[in-house]
Amino acid sequence: MSRAMIVEISATALPDMVAAVARRAGTPGQEAVVVSWPGRTLVVAPATPVPGAALAALPGVLRVVETGAPFPLAHRDFTAERTVVRVGGTAIGDGGLTVIAGPCAVESRDQLAVVASAVARAGAGVLRGGAFKPRTSPYSFQGLGEAGLLMMAEERARTGLPIVTEVLRPADVALVARYADILQVGTRSMQNFPLLAEVGRCGRPVLLKRGMAATVQEWLLAAEHILAAGNPEVILCERGIRTFETTSRFTLDLTAVPVVKRLTHLPVVVDPSHAAGQAYVVAPMALAAAAAGADGIMIDVHGAPETARCDAGQALTPGEFERLAADLERVVAAARMNLSIA
Ligand code: PEP
Ligand code: MN
Repeated sequence: MSRAMIVEISATALPDMVAAVARRAGTPGQEAVVVSWPGRTLVVAPATPVPGAALAALPGVLRVVETGAPFPLAHRDFTAERTVVRVGGTAIGDGGLTVIAGPCAVESRDQLAVVASAVARAGAGVLRGGAFKPRTSPYSFQGLGEAGLLMMAEERARTGLPIVTEVLRPADVALVARYADILQVGTRSMQNFPLLAEVGRCGRPVLLKRGMAATVQEWLLAAEHILAAGNPEVILCERGIRTFETTSRFTLDLTAVPVVKRLTHLPVVVDPSHAAGQAYVVAPMALAAAAAGADGIMIDVHGAPETARCDAGQALTPGEFERLAADLERVVAAARMNLSIA
């Protein structure tokens, strides 16, 4: 049976050696793909009949990993170590819980400054805020565009927090990457394959939200697109899926946290705000996500939620966010204790 094979090649290998490995690992119907990460070269053969030992013997080959997974680079078979994404002074996936918080949309300099100060004071590790907003209605506020990115960068300079913001179009990736520490791909874009390829080449970490109707496998294949395009720094974000239930905006699939952490080495963040749609649901779901082992939580915060130009119903006030942050600390301390049941 043919299996996927990842062949890691020495960073000092000559291009000829890389090409020889790719030629040997590929078949006429299924060519091998050369993946270049900073300081690392990998050849991915999604289905190869060539034995691993034959590939391992080729010049320049450091190691060969075999896996049955359709997303070989994202799968844990590839590496026992968990991927840790570092931005500014914040680490995501290092075993702690990173809190990402900020307004759904950047609306003005003052609106952002109030929220940024509050979330920094409460211990957030990353500031969020959308400048390019994917809106269901064409008549809704679409975001401030580059002016919003500039405000986010000003708040990074003022608070010291790294920033995450969404990119909607492949053509805007370079622009957004000039400002952002992490590029967000939203639920509505999870299968925008040209966008995934472009953020794969952007040189910045990517927060990849789960498509609202995507299976875990489709989500991890979307991550694989980014990894295969040359970007090893992908953060997965569960944000709720469509089900028959109508009392919440989406159904937060917390099952995905342990499932995805078993399947991949990538960090997993949970966004209860966009799943809930209602502020009172956010804190309990955030605490549950922390207890479930999420590497991070992403929370919408607004200085005056009732006036928010986007997703007003789900935003926490700075005070509510501060209380949640304190509760999260206690849950993290408790949930990461080893439970011994007699
Ligand atoms: C957001 O985080 O601002 C957002 C639009 O989220 P989602 O893509 O999950 O709806
Ligand atoms: Mn939103």
